[in-house]
Amino acid sequence: MALKKTAELTDDQVSAELAALDLEEKRLRLELLREQVERERAKRMQLIEAIKKQAATILKAQQRRKREQSACSHKKGGRGRENILNGNAPEFSIVVQTEAWGETYVLCTRCLKEWRKPLAVLQLVNPLKFKEIVKKDKKAYIAALEEFNAATRMMTDNSPSGSTLVEFRQGFEDDENAA
Ligand SMILES: [Zn+2]
Repeated sequence: MALKKTAELTDDQVSAELAALDLEEKRLRLELLREQVERERAKRMQLIEAIKKQAATILKAQQRRKREQSACSHKKGGRGRENILNGNAPEFSIVVQTEAWGETYVLCTRCLKEWRKPLAVLQLVNPLKFKEIVKKDKKAYIAALEEFNAATRMMTDNSPSGSTLVEFRQGFEDDENAA
């Protein structure tokens, strides 16, 4: 049916045409909305995939670091990059570090493992809460404390001369230059 000029249309015909246009408008709007939702959904899926990938990478790195740390002898000595974790000197390759808030911890300069007094910060900030938590699982606390104490004993086994960190860095650079 050819379109008649508006003036030639009856009121009913005008209403019908307006209704049809309105419907078409709504249909288009819905289509656009659907496309938008689809795009947003795809974007979100991409984001989720990226986050998953990132998390897996971080987890892998953490696991590798843990493996390396449990393989490390935490000792000085051993030449070359491949022996970074195989120190064979009698002295431990550890230093004591102090945080700005006074907490001291032991650090292996080869594998970067840290030994910290369990719940040290909580003990400092909220002694009551600290006592409460320790009371709840005394065994776990004592085990963690014993591991920390063992690390501080490694420190006292160290020869007291100089800074371990500087010695190790220099040794590593020398090895690189020789290669
Ligand atoms: Zn180590």
